[in-house]
Amino acid sequence: MSQPTIFVVEDEASFVEALQIGLSREGFHVEVATDGVEALERFPTVDPDLVLLDVMLPRASGIDVCRQIRSTSAVPIIMVTAKSSEIDTVVGLEVGADDYVTKPYRIRELVARIRAQLRRSSMDVTGEIERPAVPSSEIRVGDVALDPEEHRVSVDDREISLPLKEFEVLHLLLANAGRVLTRETLIDRVWGSDYVGDTKTLDVHIKRLRSKIEDDPAAPSRIVTIRGLGYKYERAPTASVP
Ligand code: CA
Repeated sequence: MSQPTIFVVEDEASFVEALQIGLSREGFHVEVATDGVEALERFPTVDPDLVLLDVMLPRASGIDVCRQIRSTSAVPIIMVTAKSSEIDTVVGLEVGADDYVTKPYRIRELVARIRAQLRRSSMDVTGEIERPAVPSSEIRVGDVALDPEEHRVSVDDREISLPLKEFEVLHLLLANAGRVLTRETLIDRVWGSDYVGDTKTLDVHIKRLRSKIEDDPAAPSRIVTIRGLGYKYERAPTASVP
């Protein structure tokens, strides 16, 4: 991947121009589509390494474009949402976007996120990290089931409600059940590589998750801590053999 191709799907000329200049300068090859239908038509031939997808587009919304691309491809997708449209962000992540940025954004922040996604997708190729199944289908490990499309989680057939980040952490752990996910991977994947907050945030989310899905949150059997590394979701909690 000497010069990764970024497929910019954006209808505002001023953004297109700034992205062409800014991303080219960072060593990316840029292809542009200015509406949703054009994006879907050209996606197979452009064959991008990453899609930067505006939500508000003429002819087909970014959400529809994302959903359709996801039905055939695992290409990293970064959604671009308008300020204060939290709902687009949530829907975008649920239809399979990997990350999002909010307008107005700084090119530097965008480039950091693009690089993080490209690193991640090249890791996927070597099988290092399992992406949650795309298109999203229910994941079941033991008696815990998670449905990414419906944003539902149940434990022993009892439904529980989880805020978005807790949901994403659990989704990632379940999709990689039996494997250790480092703290860095979890933070990177759920909060983004340029996350600069307190690293205790992850532990707080794990703690809340345990209080909801563990029989004994003080002695967890599902989400286990791997000291000095990170966390692992136990593939099958040890059953008591009579
Ligand atoms: Ca737009």
